[in-house]
Amino acid sequence: MRDAVRKFCARIGSDPLLVQGAGGNVSWKEGNTLWVKASGTWLADAERNDIFVPVDLRKPDGVLDDAGAGRVGEGGDGPAPRPSIEAGLHAIVPRTVVAHLHAVEALAVLVRIGAQDELAAKLDDRISWELVEYHQPGAKLAAAVRRALRRRPSADVIFLRNHGLVVAGHSVDAVETTLAAVVSALKHDVACEKARCERAAPGGPPPGRLPASEEISLPGYAEIEDGEIQNIVHDPDLYRRLSDAWALYPDHVVFLGAEAHVFDSRDHAAGFCRTRRPLLIFIRSDGVFAARGFDAAKRAQLRCYYDVLVRQRPEDVQVELAEREVDALVNWGAEHYRRTRARRPPAGALQGDVAASAGGVRWR
Ligand SMILES: [Zn+2]
Repeated sequence: MRDAVRKFCARIGSDPLLVQGAGGNVSWKEGNTLWVKASGTWLADAERNDIFVPVDLRKPDGVLDDAGAGRVGEGGDGPAPRPSIEAGLHAIVPRTVVAHLHAVEALAVLVRIGAQDELAAKLDDRISWELVEYHQPGAKLAAAVRRALRRRPSADVIFLRNHGLVVAGHSVDAVETTLAAVVSALKHDVACEKARCERAAPGGPPPGRLPASEEISLPGYAEIEDGEIQNIVHDPDLYRRLSDAWALYPDHVVFLGAEAHVFDSRDHAAGFCRTRRPLLIFIRSDGVFAARGFDAAKRAQLRCYYDVLVRQRPEDVQVELAEREVDALVNWGAEHYRRTRARRPPAGALQGDVAASAGGVRWR
């Protein structure tokens, strides 16, 4: 089982539409032991490193009750890796193999008003599923999933509003087959939205096209080297969502912050940055810039956000996380631990433009 799970993790971990950086987690059960991904590790790394840690399902302070689930992954700061903060969720799902992912095709639906109806319309009877409302990751989410499974014990898929999905099965093959069916059913043809982006920024927005006179206006920041991500500030529909659809799901907030810093001009941004130092700067019709230290894990989250946005039609309305939900994420010790651990990419695990220049940004 271990080998099959590791191969599965490496496969899905290399697909940014299924797994982003350190996001997502997979587990399997052997007797009274739950083997679950360690917090902050990358699924893409599953075949190179031992990313799984054991959790004893019999222990009272373990993961079998709602109160205990919250303590998993929130222990001391010792050298032993902590289980994923979602270990409790994995424990309560009565299947051998469980995958919790932030798959973009599902996420793009789950951030929209009307997600329930859309799922019902797109998924056929072969998939047994439930939808749970947004809950903070960890114990609260695990409790909500437990209630969903009481409503529908046959569910192989639990959709998590503004978060992702859980796919469960009695084998790796079963989980992979169900996941593929869900992704296929929810797949959004992005050609239309991408064509609109290209019209907004003809020929694409080549990095480094700004006049020399402006080069020093944002010291310490580098333009993101992904032309598609740059579309966020060139396409009016994507740009407006920075303001009204930023805090859409937990990993986005945890890694990229509670709000987007948007500016009409470089002068405006430069003035702001004299006293503050946002991680990302979005300048309308100009570019997306990242502060020094913008690592590969954050870069993967930014790409995920673009991939979610480009799957929204202009008429789609998104539901943002409430302010108290955002506060709970950014001030949570367990997430700080995960963010810190996630910083370093697995050697050789990154491909393409992510690996091209330390986090996919080009320093000025
Ligand atoms: Zn999650």
